[in-house]
Amino acid sequence: MAEALLHVDGLRISIPTDDGLAQILDHVDLEIPKGRIVGVVGESGCGKSTLVRAVLGILPRAARVDEGRIGFAGEDLLKLSPADMTRRIRGKAIGFIPQDPFLALNPVFTVGTQLLEIMRWHASDGRAAHRAHLVELLRAVQLPDPDAALDRYPHEFSGGQRQRLLIAGALACRPRLVIADEPTSALDVTTQLQILRLLRDLVSRFDVSMLFVTHDFGVVAQLCDDVMVMYAGQSVEAGPTAAVLDAPKHPYTQMLIACHPDRAQDLAGIPGSVASPLKPPSGCRFHPRCPSAKPVCHGPRPAQVHVAEREVACVLYG
Ligand code: SF4
Repeated sequence: MAEALLHVDGLRISIPTDDGLAQILDHVDLEIPKGRIVGVVGESGCGKSTLVRAVLGILPRAARVDEGRIGFAGEDLLKLSPADMTRRIRGKAIGFIPQDPFLALNPVFTVGTQLLEIMRWHASDGRAAHRAHLVELLRAVQLPDPDAALDRYPHEFSGGQRQRLLIAGALACRPRLVIADEPTSALDVTTQLQILRLLRDLVSRFDVSMLFVTHDFGVVAQLCDDVMVMYAGQSVEAGPTAAVLDAPKHPYTQMLIACHPDRAQDLAGIPGSVASPLKPPSGCRFHPRCPSAKPVCHGPRPAQVHVAEREVACVLYG
C-alpha cells in the first residue's frame, strides 16, 4: 500500500440545532494514498459534504469537531489556524472542483481574471508566468484555443467546457490532493464520461491524489481505485473498488449497488430514508432499513472488521 497523503481518523462532528444536537459524522476513518483516487459514496444526507468541508476547513460556524484528526502531508489540519488553511492549504495544497459548473464561475468576469486571481493569491511568479501556466493547463484539460479562452466570459462555454475550466483552476497551484464534489452530476452522460476520463488522465499526469464524492456507484466503477461507502454519518464499508463492486459485504452497499440503473431488477430501491442525525438509531444506524437486521444490531455500534480486502462494519462479519 502506498503512503497515505490524507488520513482521517475517528472524525466526529456535530451541529447544535433548535431541535437538539445533530451528529453529522460519527467516527469516520478515511485514507487516501499518494496517487490514488478514492471515492466517497452514499445517499444525500450521509455526511459526504461535511467530510469534504472538514478537510477544506470550511465547516459551518456552528459545527463542533468533537473528536478525531485530519492528517495531511504530516500535519493535523484541525490544528491549523483559519489563516494557515487559507494561505497554505485550501486552493494551494488541496485543490477543489465544485459540483455545479454553471454556478461556480462569476458571469461578470472573464475566465482569465478568475483563474489568475487564484494564482495571484497563492503564488508569486508574476502575471505573465501565471498566464502561461494557465494556458498550459487549459491545453491539458483539452479546451480549444486556450489562450483566447482566458479572455472569454463563462457564458461563452458549454457545461462540459466550464467543468474543464474549473478542473484547470483546481490544478492551478500544483496541489497534492484534489477534492471533487460530484463534478459530473450536472452534465449529460456523454460529457460525464469525457470528464471522468480526463480526471483519470490528469491524476497520473500531474501526480496528484483525489477524493471524489458521488452518490453514483457507476461513476465510482469508472474512476476510483478505492471506495468508502457512508451511511448516516458513518463509514460502513471501505476497500478497493473492484473488490467492493464484485462482492459487496455490507447490506447497505449491496442494496446501493443493486439500485443502480445498470443493475436494478425493479424500481423498489432501498425502503425508508436515511436516518436523521438528530436521533440516529442505536447500534447499527442502518438497522431500521436492513433486511438482515437482528436484535444484536440494536446494541453497540458494530466494529470495523477486515474481510476480503476491505473494512466492513456489520455484525454479519463479526
Ligand atoms: Fe444489517 Fe445488522 Fe449488519 Fe447493520 S449490523 S447492516 S442492521 S445486519
